[in-house]
Amino acid sequence: MTIEGAQYTAIELDGIRRQLTEHAKPECPRCQVAMTRRPIGGGSFGLGYARQRDWLICGKCKRSALFDVQRGTRN
Ligand SMILES: [Zn+2]
Repeated sequence: MTIEGAQYTAIELDGIRRQLTEHAKPECPRCQVAMTRRPIGGGSFGLGYARQRDWLICGKCKRSALFDVQRGTRN
């Protein structure tokens, strides 16, 4: 059994992630509408590095995707 219809495919997720890393406003690959971005803090910020997750939700088809986003690239 597969869960169909409620999730993005891996290819679609990849496209959204690319938009995120390019600091573009992510769009739903299915609806072509801007997705709502909801940052989720990883709890405490006293861990040396602030790891944050971005939760992207499409207001139209209600699909959502969770991404690990590294903040403040230091290298
Ligand atoms: Zn959508």
